[in-house]
Amino acid sequence: MRILLLVCDGLGDRPIRQLGDRTPLEYAKHPTLDKLAKQGEVYTLYPVKPGVPPASDVAHLHLFGYDTAVEYPGRGVFEALGAGVSLPRGALAFRLNFATVQQEGKLLKVVDRRAGRIPTEQAAELASSLNSELEEVAGFRCRFYSTTEHRGVLVMTGGELSPHITSCDPHEEGRPLLKVKPAKRKIGYPFDYAVAKKTAEAVNEVVVRAYDILSKHPLNRRRKEEGKPPANAILLRGAGIASDLESFAERWKLRAACIAGGAMYKGVARALGFDVLEVEGATGGVNTNLRAKFSAAMNALSTYDFVFLHIKATDSLSHDKKPLEKAMFIERVDSELANLVEKLDKAVLCVTADHTTSSMLGKHTGDPVPLVVYYRGARGSDCRFDERSVVSRGLEVYGLELMNILLNAAGRLEELDYDVRDEADYLELA
Ligand code: ZN
Ligand code: ZN
Repeated sequence: MRILLLVCDGLGDRPIRQLGDRTPLEYAKHPTLDKLAKQGEVYTLYPVKPGVPPASDVAHLHLFGYDTAVEYPGRGVFEALGAGVSLPRGALAFRLNFATVQQEGKLLKVVDRRAGRIPTEQAAELASSLNSELEEVAGFRCRFYSTTEHRGVLVMTGGELSPHITSCDPHEEGRPLLKVKPAKRKIGYPFDYAVAKKTAEAVNEVVVRAYDILSKHPLNRRRKEEGKPPANAILLRGAGIASDLESFAERWKLRAACIAGGAMYKGVARALGFDVLEVEGATGGVNTNLRAKFSAAMNALSTYDFVFLHIKATDSLSHDKKPLEKAMFIERVDSELANLVEKLDKAVLCVTADHTTSSMLGKHTGDPVPLVVYYRGARGSDCRFDERSVVSRGLEVYGLELMNILLNAAGRLEELDYDVRDEADYLELA
């Protein structure tokens, strides 16, 4: 059997007073998800570890069976691959934000981490100016890419670079930009202090020179005149060097495809060797074309062993503290899912989340999330699909265990007997 994994980003939540002390998932009417839970197997999933609020890329890697404590290249790699930027060996990639800073003495205080969500075309113009004026810094070649709104990617090449550096992004408005320093990070790349130090110095120079170029840029002068925050600085985080992650196909013997609107999710999938299928109207936002995405996923099941379908708006609405809208969006997902379940034959369908995003706090939390695995012949759980109903069933699993659960449901696992077989070589008579 083939496998369809639907990840509703940040689907889990906490009880909200405005929803009668129910979570958006408990509040929403979702007969299809409830049917899956009744007839399928439900679990309480800790995407990474109990109590640990993971970033989305980290959580997804765990769901795909990659332990980020052992193998993790850095978020910049996924951002770059997701934006369609190919990374030559040894290239150092960063997630970039165009931001607004205010000079205070020698410090640059962050006023707006997203420069008023600057339009994509304007950010592209700034990236192109940076590319022409900041082509080389400290002997390294720099390429700036704008993706959507304030988001972008920086790729540095042309010498020995290290991802073992701190980030310049203070992650909070009202605080000054941080100095980038060498620091051993928990990522799967050898640490060399001298290389890390040289990299950090170059990155600091990039940030300072980018401020100089951007603060004098005519586009920013215009934005100021219009009363908009100038995009006069870049924030860099998630430094990463593409490493040779074992491909998903090698690890699980599954040919895999990804359907997602958000660039970073496509990046994670590309890094693992998935085919990324482009679907018209898949925006990664609330306005995304759910019907087109579900139907593309259904079609993909005829070609691929494993289809990963990602839906982002559940997470974005939680970050924006809109629990009611989140519940409404869940109802839309449920009704599109109904069509798919009707047509689903000889496939395992799994629905879950990569983490809980509290729509009261507006951020990821370390609470577990509900998980359902539905296929013909499943034992059945006879419960609803929501955070607390699933907990009452008592089965707790970790993200790293998900692939085995899915492969078992799909009848793709062999008995564990510790034998080793080389299926590619037959014994020949003399
Ligand atoms: Zn997420
Ligand atoms: Zn999030």
